[in-house]
Amino acid sequence: MAKLGAMQDWTMRITSVIDHAAREAGTREIVTRWADGSVTRTDWAGVRRDALKMAQALQRLGIRPGERVASLAMNHSRHLVSWYGVAGMGGVLHTVNPRLFDDQLDYIVNHAEDRVLLYDAAFQPIVDKMKDRWTTIEHYICYDSGENAPAFEDWIGAEDGDFEWVTGDERDPCMICYTSGTTGNPKGVQYEHRSTVLHAIAGLQPAAFNFSGSSVMLPVVPMFHAASWGLPYAGAMAGIKFVFSAVNDPAVLHQLMIDEKVTDSAGVPTVWLAHFQYCDANGLDLPPLKAATIGGSAAPKFMIERLMKNGTRVQHAWGMTETSPIGTVGGPTWDWEELSFEEKVQKTTMQGRPIFGVELRTVDLDDMVTELPRDGKSSGALQIRGPWIIKRYFKSDKDAVNNEGWFDTGDVGILHPDGTLQLTDRTKDVIKSGGEWISSVELENAAGGHPAVAEAACVGMPHPKWDERPVLFVVKKADAQVSAEDIIEHLRSQVAKWWLPDAVEFIDEIPHTATGKISKKDLRDRFSDYRLEA
Ligand code: AMP
Repeated sequence: MAKLGAMQDWTMRITSVIDHAAREAGTREIVTRWADGSVTRTDWAGVRRDALKMAQALQRLGIRPGERVASLAMNHSRHLVSWYGVAGMGGVLHTVNPRLFDDQLDYIVNHAEDRVLLYDAAFQPIVDKMKDRWTTIEHYICYDSGENAPAFEDWIGAEDGDFEWVTGDERDPCMICYTSGTTGNPKGVQYEHRSTVLHAIAGLQPAAFNFSGSSVMLPVVPMFHAASWGLPYAGAMAGIKFVFSAVNDPAVLHQLMIDEKVTDSAGVPTVWLAHFQYCDANGLDLPPLKAATIGGSAAPKFMIERLMKNGTRVQHAWGMTETSPIGTVGGPTWDWEELSFEEKVQKTTMQGRPIFGVELRTVDLDDMVTELPRDGKSSGALQIRGPWIIKRYFKSDKDAVNNEGWFDTGDVGILHPDGTLQLTDRTKDVIKSGGEWISSVELENAAGGHPAVAEAACVGMPHPKWDERPVLFVVKKADAQVSAEDIIEHLRSQVAKWWLPDAVEFIDEIPHTATGKISKKDLRDRFSDYRLEA
């Protein structure tokens, strides 16, 4: 008697995702607004057709399964075609973040041994500058111009698309993203066909992106950042309409959302901030979105409140490049209908609940092994495991997880009894004062609520008596008048007295990483001589 069950074999490959989209939602539109202002339209059947041609063209260049093909591009339909075309010939797409520094760009392209680079004409200056340093790249293809390299449309246009997807193991790699770590070299995270398919299925559910055939999604989160949160795959599975913009100008995004009847969007908090400012400056209402997913950094309360007042469901999501990236999403909890508006806003400031497939736990920050209770109070180092969570960095011979498969996220958080994750800090940034922990993020968020504060960053500075004490760095809004005492006064009602910063320093600019997060390392370096008195 057969030991196994009696269901069919089905290898989880990315090609099945695009085949499904083309078969079941072939005419559903994919719209792109290009950098030059022109708008083009294709559909899922068209994306598949072009991906087949691209796979053929890559084979003709001699690219073999498992090898890396890089993209240096914003969000558009040709970039989407590349996601499926590269995976369809067994290759691994390396989505390069154009905002990285030269040394990082040099490192990651050479480390990944990228053989082809597909790029936007807007990034020609980066290509010109880096070309001599990128020793492994043999072919350059430009997505939107034929001036300095073969044009993408001509390159794939020479093929007939008569191609069979390359088959293989579902554990084969299909994409690589590098972390933009603030210390050391970036590290490569290689996603598999299987992990990507599972992650996308999980992303579809109502407790996550809540996609249906009627969804119209404009992802602002770049395709070069953490696989654009898996949206290009989940969207294909549900056969949604995608609206891409190759520029992130709020005026362009706003108009596109209205013209194309966008229902869903996704992006980091700064994207929404820019959108608010644009609407306020021009006396416009926010677009009537059904849902907005915010992640990458903590979404401030006022942002959540304003979107919710606009009738938009806010899904606060947490994850990282190492987690494909979705770990938790803030869908409605079981007490949702009983909560007041204010309570709903408050709950949404937390990072949501793990989607199926992901396990979370917090451990003691001092010993990093003792598991903490899920009591809504105990704050500890956040660890994660699951089928789309990293096991080992690219080319590393050491596992990045412990014996039980737990990956240490570097984040600090609290788990609530209903499964909600509340992120409180990064392990490297949490401030230890007299043996007790202070959350730098909570201080920043509280300071950010002051009307004169444009941005705030809090770091622990060495202190002769307490080891470390919080110092708050503040960028004032243009023309705003505010003193250090005003800020402290504002914080007094929101945090414990012993959390109040020892100093507030006004500076012109807060340093950011290539993915738009506050770079506390740069801030600490800049103020390395800073001294607090006992
Ligand atoms: P990256 O790999 O560049 O996507 O960065 C991942 C890191 O971003 C996480 O480890 C968190 O520190 C931070 N992060 C992501 N999502 C959130 C969120 N919703 N709230 C707060 N921090 C977040």
